[in-house]
Amino acid sequence: MKIAFFSTKNYDKTYFNSHNENQNIVYFETRLNKNTCNLASGFDAVCVFVNDILSREVIELLHEHGVKLIALRCAGFNNVNLEAANEYGIKISRVPAYSPEAVAEHALALILTLNRKTHKAYNRVKECNFSLNNLVGFTVYKKTVGVIGTGRIGQAFCKIMKALGCEVIAFDPYPNQTLKDSGVTYVELDDLFKRSDIISLHCPLTEQTKHIINENSLKQLKPNSMLINTSRGALIDTEAVIQALKDKQVGYLGIDVYEQEDKLFFEDLSEHIIDDDLILRLISFPNVLITSHQAFLTQEALNEISKSVLNDISHFEKTQELINPVEI
Ligand code: NAD
Repeated sequence: MKIAFFSTKNYDKTYFNSHNENQNIVYFETRLNKNTCNLASGFDAVCVFVNDILSREVIELLHEHGVKLIALRCAGFNNVNLEAANEYGIKISRVPAYSPEAVAEHALALILTLNRKTHKAYNRVKECNFSLNNLVGFTVYKKTVGVIGTGRIGQAFCKIMKALGCEVIAFDPYPNQTLKDSGVTYVELDDLFKRSDIISLHCPLTEQTKHIINENSLKQLKPNSMLINTSRGALIDTEAVIQALKDKQVGYLGIDVYEQEDKLFFEDLSEHIIDDDLILRLISFPNVLITSHQAFLTQEALNEISKSVLNDISHFEKTQELINPVEI
């Protein structure tokens, strides 16, 4: 099949080329949106990532260009207009689980870095500044950790935090019995907000979860609590969290995703004027740690992603069916 690959980075090429046996892949660095979808003309499939925009308009154009498959090389699919794809008979595949532990471990990295300030210590010692002033952290052992969403990544994260000796409480409309048996307690969302020292978001972005962290929920948090988001940016109302940081309601914020990340993340903008005052305000806080959507970025995950995407494309080519469809 002829596949137009959008938002290509060097690591995508490396891993996809190493697993590709017979697909005809053309790599484009640009993102897929209404201005770039002409590039997909004559292709059977597009392979896209988290910030490619598959709106109704784009899907209509892809259909006109002959595209029959949207292969997402990620788990989330909030950037695709599913109804439009269904209407135009375009199938959608995704990679439901490539390495949930990779994302869960990145959430842990954010927690420990924010808490023990190793990023600041590293820079100090590089300049022969061996002072310990302002590096005081807290012991994570026995803290209460609230997990919102206990799917694949949430489960991996719960296991990690249990292993650190934390009390793990969780909220998910579909509680997981194995987690319950391991000592995780499911609670109502309000209760989770009130009791947690650390909250980590692992639910998908949907109409119900958009701004699940908002002015009201932030008011319920313990003062100085830690909020971690490795899921999707719009789970947090950015303006509300900035106010909560100013009010010291949130004492630490670690985010790998950001509501307006599509204009910023994955690019080197160090020589540009950033036209986003909210991210600049966030960057200015000493207790905010931002990574640019790298939680998935491990060798194991990249191997799994490329194998799974190529496998599904080959399966589609032979059977017109998908192994990992996004059900509409
Ligand atoms: P999953 O589908 O296995 O689990 C999602 C869980 O969220 C399910 O248990 C579901 O019941 C629960 N959920 C749904 N609505 C909820 C709500 N209103 N409140 C609480 N829980 C709710 O997904 P996953 O593989 O664990 O991935 C979770 C999310 O992580 C993805 O949707 C994606 O947005 C994000 N993600 C981020 C990265 C990254 O690199 N930062 C990588 C992969 C995935």
